[in-house]
Amino acid sequence: MGLKDRIAAVEANYGRLRALGRDPSRLEFQNVWSPTEATLEGRPMMLFGTNNYLGLTFDPNVLEAATAATRALGSGTTGSRIANGSYGGHKALEAEIARFYAKQHCIVFSTGYVANIGMITALGGKDDVLLIDADSHASIYDGCKMADAETIRFRHNSPEDLAKKLRRLEGHPGDKIIIVEGIYSMLGDTAPLAEFAAVKREAGDNVYLMVDEAHSLGVLGESGRGQCQAAHVEDDCDFIVGTFSKSVGTIGGYCVSNVEGFDWIRSFCRPYMFTASMTPGTVSTARAAFRRMAERPELRAKLWSNSAALFRGLGDLGFETGPEVSPVVAVKLPAPEVAVALWNRLIDEGVYTNIAIPPATPNALSLLRVSVSAAHSEAQIERALGVFASVGAELGIIEPGTARGER
Ligand code: PMP
Repeated sequence: MGLKDRIAAVEANYGRLRALGRDPSRLEFQNVWSPTEATLEGRPMMLFGTNNYLGLTFDPNVLEAATAATRALGSGTTGSRIANGSYGGHKALEAEIARFYAKQHCIVFSTGYVANIGMITALGGKDDVLLIDADSHASIYDGCKMADAETIRFRHNSPEDLAKKLRRLEGHPGDKIIIVEGIYSMLGDTAPLAEFAAVKREAGDNVYLMVDEAHSLGVLGESGRGQCQAAHVEDDCDFIVGTFSKSVGTIGGYCVSNVEGFDWIRSFCRPYMFTASMTPGTVSTARAAFRRMAERPELRAKLWSNSAALFRGLGDLGFETGPEVSPVVAVKLPAPEVAVALWNRLIDEGVYTNIAIPPATPNALSLLRVSVSAAHSEAQIERALGVFASVGAELGIIEPGTARGER
């Protein structure tokens, strides 16, 4: 298919939905004034579609660190660490993250997407097998496509299916790398990591486990290390990958590991070697945000009470939600048109969420992805639920009369 045909196919698929209202890819916030408030179409908007789980994007300490580093060291590094060298901040950030996880090694990447493609292409050599959860993020799929290894998918969150696929590989000489996520970004469900770790242990020596904690860093676990910590399987997780673009509130990615010789990855991991390194400002932002995360555990507690309030509130109204309380609350809708209509009406009423429709969703689901921050106030959550109630009833998604205050 040529470029023109591909554009025509996309137009045919999305044009119909765009005709129903706004184009999600062309929204522009004129201003963002806090982790939860912005101006869109000249009107105030409550943000329920960010990944700003701890609300750190406006933390004064973080802003001060970012500004000071930019003033002192400039706006960018203008090259990769292999070509232009590391700044002290890159090394300090890596040492701090390794310490945070109590792991020996850490490597930082320019984004979380790059961390996944970098680690997967570095780990998945020609004779190896990558075993990935079917609901994996695009960056995991893309990494697998780029890697020399074979890729096998197993059923979402199914240790049984993983075990079956591993049994079929018995006698296979190469490494097997299992890849799962801590919290899945669309439905907000967590991986059964204790069970996955047990499957990995049973499968033998040359089997590794990599966990992407993009949505669980700062969110799960006693000290916020993620689902590996919450499930008490950190020793079984050979590679923990994450991003700075969510709870850390900036941009960048990382991998921590205890695997011996890990540092040599820097010399053959192309997505590390051939792209510019994190800017001084982003490095200092990330360092300050990790410090704030440790200093303010109450943010995690607030995030979870907000998550419970939103999850239960939407369920009580009659919306079909994801399977468990989570900072990512999926509202499942019967068709893409319904999702688009609800998304548009919510924006009309000042509530911004994320729309997710096939092919970007697992099992061709149509949903709104509603996400919570520790920075949301109870009043904001109540207001958002009120809008969901009235707009949901107006569109016939929930029973009328379930509006907040009328129950
Ligand atoms: N992994 C997962 C599970 C994600 O959801 C995302 C971002 N949505 C990424 C990786 C990529 O992170 P980044 O935005 O830092 O590129």
